[in-house]
Amino acid sequence: MRKSAESTFFVCKIGVDIDAETYISHDRDSLLIHREVLRTLDIANPFLKRDAGIVLELVYVHIQKEIETDPYHGQDGYMRFFRLSTNWPEARLKEKGLDVIMHLSVRHYGSISGMASIGGPYNISPWATLPTILHELGHNFSSPHTHNCSWPGGPLETCVSSEGGCRDGELLHQDELGTIMGYCNGRQAYHPLSAAMMANYAKDNLQEISSPPGTPVFQNESVAALKPFYIFPPVNGSETYYFEISEDPDFKRLHVNGEVPVNTIPLSDLKAGENFYLRIKAANRFGESAWSVPKQVTIPSGALLPPKIEEVFTNRGKREYLSAKDDYLVVP
Ligand SMILES: [Zn+2]
Repeated sequence: MRKSAESTFFVCKIGVDIDAETYISHDRDSLLIHREVLRTLDIANPFLKRDAGIVLELVYVHIQKEIETDPYHGQDGYMRFFRLSTNWPEARLKEKGLDVIMHLSVRHYGSISGMASIGGPYNISPWATLPTILHELGHNFSSPHTHNCSWPGGPLETCVSSEGGCRDGELLHQDELGTIMGYCNGRQAYHPLSAAMMANYAKDNLQEISSPPGTPVFQNESVAALKPFYIFPPVNGSETYYFEISEDPDFKRLHVNGEVPVNTIPLSDLKAGENFYLRIKAANRFGESAWSVPKQVTIPSGALLPPKIEEVFTNRGKREYLSAKDDYLVVP
């Protein structure tokens, strides 16, 4: 494997804060929420990695479970942003080891679609809406809008009025294609200057990865699968995981194997009433870990694993975005 300074990458440790309405709309299923959040990061990561060398690593999911005690319930985006920042002061972020805390909800936020601190940890984004999630993360990693007047030479994109008023009175190019940090349509990538700012921010603020990841370690609990997936603790600095599921603990009778970009293993091909053994290794551009100690997976006899979950994201793999959405910024 090639190992050079320019091929290092940066890990953003992210926590996700879910409101009770989202929890209830997913049948009060915490594991399902966790898994859907992982899938969101799985889809966001290729864009962040390609353009800015950043990989999101989900280290914490907090779920509000009751409407009555949910501080976000009934609040619009501005108030949720304020609550998020007071619920997550710097000391709490530090204690959990978080670089970014993202609030996600199925509820619309009123007049805004999302909100983020520029070069700061707070992020309010709509559930399962990739364009806005990538946009708000771009703010967290310090990029202003592409139509902002602060760029050297002025706004980078001119389909909307400039932010700051430096181009007031000039003609708007409404058909101009734009990038993730702007409001023009066609946002399939970060603008090179946004990406450069984000990469610089990562260098100064995020953990740099320059060696292979460690070996995955399972939690102690036995896996009696009632879900079509299994979530294991993420390994810091991984870019992908390889897994094998075998009928024997020596992995001579392989049942299924594969590769997953995030720390969740599909189990939907396993049969009820049988024991299997699962092992995982973590990998990144610098190399692979050893295989984990095998973990026994039991599908209770008579259990019917639920079917594979329907795809939430219709734009997966297509690299096509929805139309640009408005938002509002807070400068810390
Ligand atoms: Zn914005």
